[in-house]
Amino acid sequence: MKNKNFEKSLSWSITRNCNYNCSYCISPREEGDKEKYPEPYLFLDKFKKYLSGSWKIYISGGEPFLVPKFIDIAKELSEKRHRLVVMTNLSSSLDELSEFIEVTGNNLSHISASLHLGFSDIEEYLKKSVEISKMIERKFSVRIVAAPGKVLEMSEIGQKFKNRGINFFLRPEKFSFDKTQKQKEYSKKEVEILNKFKLHNIMRLTQSYSFKGKLCRAGSDYFSINEKGDAWRCHPAEKLKSKESYLGNFFDKSFELNKKAMKCPCQFCYCAHNIFYKNKLIL
Ligand code: SF4
Ligand code: SF4
Repeated sequence: MKNKNFEKSLSWSITRNCNYNCSYCISPREEGDKEKYPEPYLFLDKFKKYLSGSWKIYISGGEPFLVPKFIDIAKELSEKRHRLVVMTNLSSSLDELSEFIEVTGNNLSHISASLHLGFSDIEEYLKKSVEISKMIERKFSVRIVAAPGKVLEMSEIGQKFKNRGINFFLRPEKFSFDKTQKQKEYSKKEVEILNKFKLHNIMRLTQSYSFKGKLCRAGSDYFSINEKGDAWRCHPAEKLKSKESYLGNFFDKSFELNKKAMKCPCQFCYCAHNIFYKNKLIL
């Protein structure tokens, strides 16, 4: 039966550009391709055209705050009553982050910050996090990819954040995003720590979800769109390159949402924020 208490949502990978170069990045830069992408602010007209009502927009990258006019884009989306979640490596200045918080106001749903050892100074990052938490309280969290061999160190870092009242998650370096969903190998002790620590989503360390063949509203009430304007039912369907799951492109007028729930073609589903939290997509 259809759950009427859901909010329509989409994941927008706004850029491939990033100032960091993490080995575990799942959205690495495509050098040389950048000039082919439409400017992100050009998406605003398309959102106006294609999205009716208020949607929750998950903005990720690359690093969204590197996008020219990003604050203006966020402001306009918020003025159109869309709710925003942004994934950032928190390298922007506190002034810029404060401005973002101010312009998005009540329509800021969450800032999900990722901490990357080797690129960020932990004490500075913690200071910035505390300031942001003061502004938006529980709408802010920090996550770190738990690299094998570093889980203890990372859990200790996490504890520093928790001690300051900040939600902190370990994210297992798990997905190969292929058909096998392999995860990295952790020692027995590390598995114990990971299982005790709050993980980034509600998927447990060794658990994968599969809804293949079930009716799912991804494609009608949720979709993912990349920096080129190509839209898919969801990220797993995009990885699968399943033709029936392609919804078209925002810029060549081929984009169209499905009118109803369709069967899931994917072996694994990792759309945790939609499936398991508020927006149960599976019927
Ligand atoms: S900060 Fe995020 S987007 Fe940038 S390289 Fe690292 S994992 Fe990738
Ligand atoms: S169940 Fe998950 S993987 Fe399958 S179509 Fe829905 S969102 Fe995509």
